[in-house]
This record gives sequence, structure tokens and C-alpha cells, in this order.
Amino acid sequence: MTKAPPLKNDCFALPPGVDWAPVDDALALLHDRLHPVVGKSSVGLDQALGRILAADVIAPRHHPPLPNTAVDGYGFAGALPAGPHALPLVSGRAAAGVRFDGTVPDGAAIRILTGAALPHGVTTVVLQEDVTVDADTIHVNGPIKDGANTRKAGEDMVAGQVILAAGRTITPADVGVLATVGVDQVQVFDRLRVAILSTGDELLAAGQPAQPGQIYDANRPMLAAMVRQLGHDVVDMGIQPDDPKTIRAALDDAAARADVVLTSGGASAGDEDHISAALNDAGAMALWRIAIKPGRPLALGMWQGTPVFGLPGNPVAAFVCTAIFARPALSYLGGADFAEAPAITVPAAFSKRKKPGRREYLRARLVDGRAEVFASEGSGRISGLSWATGLVELPDGALEVAPGTPVRFIPFTALGI
Ligand code: AMP
Ligand code: MG
Repeated sequence: MTKAPPLKNDCFALPPGVDWAPVDDALALLHDRLHPVVGKSSVGLDQALGRILAADVIAPRHHPPLPNTAVDGYGFAGALPAGPHALPLVSGRAAAGVRFDGTVPDGAAIRILTGAALPHGVTTVVLQEDVTVDADTIHVNGPIKDGANTRKAGEDMVAGQVILAAGRTITPADVGVLATVGVDQVQVFDRLRVAILSTGDELLAAGQPAQPGQIYDANRPMLAAMVRQLGHDVVDMGIQPDDPKTIRAALDDAAARADVVLTSGGASAGDEDHISAALNDAGAMALWRIAIKPGRPLALGMWQGTPVFGLPGNPVAAFVCTAIFARPALSYLGGADFAEAPAITVPAAFSKRKKPGRREYLRARLVDGRAEVFASEGSGRISGLSWATGLVELPDGALEVAPGTPVRFIPFTALGI
């Protein structure tokens, strides 16, 4: 296992003069300032799904390794012109994994089955359905092109070619591609360890009896679920009260046990905003006022060399900020490519007059290819996140949306959450 270099302590400093950062600028800054912080290891193919490639994978052999047939039929050399043809059959056959060692003479044909390497003297295969066989001869009607129904060696992948690039998250299809060329071990980044803690005197964990005035901690379980879904490891740091000392101790602990820390609550600049206060005192904090709705200032800082994302306490805002900011940042810290939110453009099924200034994310779902939005934009209504299957992203500027207006829709599945 190899180790990655640490991040700079001032990596979240905002450029001078920046007050409200547009979403794209904030993302570009994260991309610019962060880098992978995890080590690399080799894993077997059976452990590779969802892991991030730490090195390009080079095909060790061609696929297909030899020219072969794509169909069951009869093989011969060259093209057949239009009209009827009779070709004598050689005895024997070629099947997948069972090579025909002889040479098929010019003008003759051989029985050949899907996947079989083309015998010497064969360049073309005719489908068995297009042939009548009588004794030792096949009858076939031309024209048939030279090379019909065959696959060339290396036509899919060439030995020595990069087949999967570093930074890619391995999919089930990739596992198939790797196995095809005989690769059974890949270099991957170690899983990113993400510490998650909630802050607030009012919070208690689900399962505990609640007093009036207490609310259940939604963010820690939700963020943990998102982080796991994104393929990272979760380090649960529990609920921390609004107490500066306890919060600092929890950050110490989190920084020691994880590669990155996600906190929620206490991130603004109020009296009980102990996360931003702690990061501020550490001298390595930037309160990013990102022009996003829903969202409050995002407190970003370094705590003992470990990046901390101070998310808003409001669960809908915490979810959106995680989906839009933390998700690409975590993937990048974990060695993946910095991926923009994958949006599709669809017609709106709603009306809305949007003011300029902040990019807006609405809880939305597709019905018959059109984006419907949740009845309430109230950011306290977390049930809308379950109702939704994605987010509608409205641009930074003003916009008048009417039914049919093209809008950007980001499916949760495409975000991997
Ligand atoms: P804060 O950012 O700490 O001022 O919190 C903003 C709002 O979100 C307050 O109403 C909090 O009670 C609420 N909140 C903060 N953390 C959580 C949490 N983990 N789960 C549910 N609600 C929370
Ligand atoms: Mg709070």
C-alpha cells in the first residue's frame, strides 16, 4: 500500500474579494485545491466492483485473441459472387476451444461453430440457415462478402491498449471487460474514510425516547447512507452537543480516524455555530457563501491536516450540499475523476418564477419524461427528498419556467445516491 501526500493547510482559502461564490466557481475551487488523499492497493477482480482505479489498465492480450466466427455455419476463403455455388465440405469441424489444425483448400468449406477460431484457409462464414447441405457439399447463394460473419483478432481490444483509465469507478461491465482480457488483479485507491458527526443540543438518535423540543438526528444516518452508497467507508462520530470543547475533541478524534470529516449544523456564524468557530480558530477555515438554494454557508476547513466539510444543519440543505459539493469532492479525494452532476434536459411540468442570484435545486421527479417538483419548497420538508427521484437544477440567473420549458434534471441514480 502506498500513501498519498497531505493537503495544504490553506487549501480552502477563498480568492481575495470573493463574497458569494457561484456554484460552478465553488466546484472549480474544490477541483483545483483538492487531490487524492488515499493510498493504493491491489485487489482481485471479485473485490473490484465500485472501487476506483489507481492506474490505467493495459490489455495484456487481444480481444478476440484470434480471428473467429460470430455465427454457426460454414467457413471458406474469400467472397462469393452473386448466384448459386456448391462447395465441397472438408471432413472435421472447427468449434469454440477446439481448433481445426488442417488447412481448408481454396473452393472448399468447413463446418464451423460460433466462437471457433478461423481455420487456415477460412476468411468468410456463411450462416447455416442460408445453406442446404447435401452429402459432402454445401449449396449457397451469393453474393457473400469476404470476411462476412467473422471477427478480427483485436477488433474489440488490442494488446497494449489502455482499456480502462485511472480514476474510473469500476462497474459490473468493467469487471467483464477486465476478465475478458485475463486481468484478475487491479490497482485501486484505498477506500476513503469519511467521519460523520451531527451537532446540536436539540438532537437525539432515533430509538431514544424524545422530550418535547428534542428532534431526531436525521443528518448523520442520511449522510452515512449517502457516503456508503458512494463507495466510501463511514466513521460514525455520533451527535455532539453545542459545546466548543466537546466539538473540538470530536474533531480531533475524527481527524485521527478518517481522511475527511463531514459535520452538519453549527456551520454559520451565529452564537451556537461551533463548527465554524472551531475551524476559524484553527486558522484554516473559509466560510464559503455559495449562491445555492437550499443551502447556508458551507464551512470548509482543515483540522489537523484533515479536510472538514461543515454542512448546513437543515436536512434538505445538508442533502443538497452533499449531493452537489461533497459528492464530487469526496470522490476526488478518494482518487476518482472530478465528476460534474450528470444532468439531463427535460420539459418542466411546473411553473415557477425564479429570482436571479442563487442556483436553485428543487426536489423533483420525472413523470412521462417531464419534471414535476415537490409541492412545497420548504427546506424543512425532508419527506420531499423521498418523494423525489432527483433534483431540478435552475440556473444562477432569473428564469420564468412554464410547463414545457426545458430544465435540467439530475437523477439521484446518476449521482449514485
Ligand atoms: P444549524 O445549522 O445548527 O443552525 O441547524 C439548522 C436547523 O437544522 C435547525 O432547525 C436544526 O435543529 C436542524 N438540524 C441541525 N442538525 C440536524 C440534524 N442532524 N438532523 C435534523 N435536523 C437538524
Ligand atoms: Mg445547530
